[in-house]
Order: sequence, then structure tokens, then C-alpha cells
Amino acid sequence: MEKTLALVKPDAYSTGHLDDIKKRIEAEGFKIVQEKEVKGTKSQIEEFYKEHEGRPFFESLTTWMSSSPFYAMILEKKDAVKAWRTLMGPTNSEKAREEAPNSIRALFGTDGSKNATHGSDSLESSAREIGIIFG
Ligand code: ATP
Ligand code: MG
Repeated sequence: MEKTLALVKPDAYSTGHLDDIKKRIEAEGFKIVQEKEVKGTKSQIEEFYKEHEGRPFFESLTTWMSSSPFYAMILEKKDAVKAWRTLMGPTNSEKAREEAPNSIRALFGTDGSKNATHGSDSLESSAREIGIIFG
């Protein structure tokens, strides 16, 4: 069993898509082991997205993610990291609509930045990110 961190980002959370996203998560056989609403501080979100420091979208991404609440869940399943990223679909919501039309980002994302959800990219990232968000 693996654990991964899922975030329902402010775009999808503020527009009321949490329940639909949770239904998809549960239908795919994930167990939600912890969950909570989070209002991140700018410095907490900067730490969370540290790997992207220096990239052109870093400032807008961290400002956006710390400006309104999002919803965090720890998901558990066999191969949870990969399974959750597959269910989310490609990073860019437009590309997701072309390549994985039933994915969460295709259905609920807006563009390349406001893309509805986050998923850890490895088991190491999952442990680090769960530490930052759930302590
Ligand atoms: P996440 O880490 O959110 O699960 P990901 O691993 O598919 O998504 P990353 O490359 O880690 O994508 O990027 C982290 C986040 O930064 C993306 O989810 C998106 O919100 C934003 N982002 C990534 N690339 C761009 C870009 N080119 N322009 C604007 N925002 C971007
Ligand atoms: Mg990532």
C-alpha cells in the first residue's frame, strides 16, 4: 500500500467540485485516510512548490495557491502515486481534454496552471508533501 497527497486546488474547490472529485477517487478504490480544508501561507506554499523555484510561473502559482482555501487528502491504495496521477490526467487541462477526456483535469480544470488538482510525483515527494500539509 502506498500513500499519496491529493489537493483539490482553489479553482475546483471554490466552484463546488469537491464532491464529484471525491466520488471519482472512491470509485477508483482509493481510501481517504485523512482530509481537511487548508488555507496555506505564502511561505508554506513556496516550500511545497520548492522544486519549481525560479520557473516563470512560480510567483503566480504560489500567490494563487495561498490566496484561497484548497482541500487536502491523503489517499491510500496499491501504487497510489501513479494511480492518482493517471486519474488526474495531464498537467495542462486543455491537453487533458484531448488526451484523457474522462480525467479529473479534463473535466474540472481550466488551463495549464489552474488545473483542479495536485498529485505527488513520487513516494519521496508524497512523504515530504504530506509532512508540509498535515504535519
Ligand atoms: P502537480 O505537481 O500540481 O500535481 P504536475 O506534477 O502535473 O502537477 P508540475 O510540473 O509539478 O505538474 O507543476 C506543478 C504545478 O505548476 C502544475 O500543477 C500547474 O498548476 C503549475 N504549472 C506547471 N507548469 C506550468 C506552466 N507552464 N505554466 C503555468 N503553470 C504551470
Ligand atoms: Mg508536480
